[in-house]
Amino acid sequence: FTYAPAPESPAAAGDIATSYGHFIGGEFVDSSGSEALKTVNPATEQVLAEFAQGTGEDVDRAVAAARKAFADWSALPGSERAKYLFRIARIVQERSRELAVLESIDNGKPIRETRDFDVPMVAAWFFYYAGWADKLDYAGYGPNPRPVGVAAQVIPWNFPLMMLAWKIAPALATGNTVVLKPAETTPLTALRFAEICRQAGLPKGVVNIVTGDGRTGAALTAHPDVDKVAFTGSTPVGRSIARQLAGTRTKLSLELGGKAANIVFDDAPIDQAVEGIVNGIFFNQGHVCCAGSRLLVQESVQDEFLEALKRRMSTLRVGDPLDKNTDIGAINSSAQLSRITELTDAGEAEGAERWSPSCDLPGTGYWFRPTLFTGVSQAHRIAREEIFGPVLSVLTFRTPAEAVEKANNTPYGLSAGIWTEKGSRILWTASRLKAGVVWANTFNKFDPASPFGGYKESGYGREGGRHGLEAYLDV
Ligand code: NAD
Repeated sequence: FTYAPAPESPAAAGDIATSYGHFIGGEFVDSSGSEALKTVNPATEQVLAEFAQGTGEDVDRAVAAARKAFADWSALPGSERAKYLFRIARIVQERSRELAVLESIDNGKPIRETRDFDVPMVAAWFFYYAGWADKLDYAGYGPNPRPVGVAAQVIPWNFPLMMLAWKIAPALATGNTVVLKPAETTPLTALRFAEICRQAGLPKGVVNIVTGDGRTGAALTAHPDVDKVAFTGSTPVGRSIARQLAGTRTKLSLELGGKAANIVFDDAPIDQAVEGIVNGIFFNQGHVCCAGSRLLVQESVQDEFLEALKRRMSTLRVGDPLDKNTDIGAINSSAQLSRITELTDAGEAEGAERWSPSCDLPGTGYWFRPTLFTGVSQAHRIAREEIFGPVLSVLTFRTPAEAVEKANNTPYGLSAGIWTEKGSRILWTASRLKAGVVWANTFNKFDPASPFGGYKESGYGREGGRHGLEAYLDV
């Protein structure tokens, strides 16, 4: 992919309306209700726009539009559906600068990440699943795979556009139609994506976007005319949706939280491992479900390793998301900042030792310094609960068996990392980790061809790759 030159001003995000309704049946429409929510730039606390709090009636309309579109869309040959997906992918590339800036100001994440990671990933996902659409007609799944129907998709705020692509691309490739609800703190790129669907000439009603908070989400996931629910978000909400759908015919896949261990063995190349640990927890302010939020370091190298890690952390630049030198942007919301503060205060109160490099934070906006906790025990809340912020909890181990035991000592099972020179140790460790994704000598690497998803309370079902199609097909 080619990248646009670094955008440096909010103006590059293009026109942001003062208020938004929903995108239903190919049109931007007003809500049936009068309640509006606001989305703010977390780096400046400025209101970017108002948007509609979707009502039950709005959800009904969107599901009906998706149902109406389903007959024609699912009857198209895969090769025809593929053309739309390829077109969407190319438009995302053409509009990458605008999308990157808009995502950075709505979410708070650094422009370097939206430009080099989020937006290229969105295009990659549509290209990848475009490639599957015609293969499905005759290959891969036997003679007659069928789309499940209307998919309700609810996504979180940490990768707004990328999560949208992970949900919409496979659903459309397989002939389903969708109603997607973005998170209430980051609706703007989903609404901009609606424009892209129009630009691509996507038939009306194939993609519908309804905005709002958890109330709108619950109305959508419980809707009786939805065939499949795909949810990414917190474990408590995932659990409530599973309860809600128990006893119905609706299919469900869940991508939930994580508390990944990033395991550094004594033979790991230190500089490379330090980079990986830093990327693992400080990428996207640590607002990453698969973040390497627990560092497990072998006791014999812990002093040397932590010293190198602190040196590296001292060079991280926290600040303006639109500055292309920024490493750590703004925390997405004041509510999230409060959650991080609460858990880190608990870390100190429970006796762990806290360290952050000294760095100035901007006066307005929501910010949190990169933070390291040592002297952490497995009983501490910061070792057990998902913080979803730039906070790393360090535990130590003596033997590989102890590393595996500690890594698996969590209700979650989304991801893990292994740092060692020994190939045999990678295989030994990876086969014992209960995690859907295990990275070795790297971290936070994603590819549309690779399935992603969790064990245990991190959810079920997979997104990405051939496995990602299964969520949207009856074979
Ligand atoms: P959240 O569960 O509060 O919200 C996620 C989405 O669900 C939002 O769109 C929200 O409006 C909606 N929602 C809230 N209540 C609902 C309900 N009762 N019914 C239906 N929808 C409802 O989570 P969050 O704070 O936005 O996101 C952070 C969490 O998401 C973290 O725990 C993180 O680990 C997880 N996450 C997981 C993955 C993954 O792939 N496994 C990816 C990103 C984030």
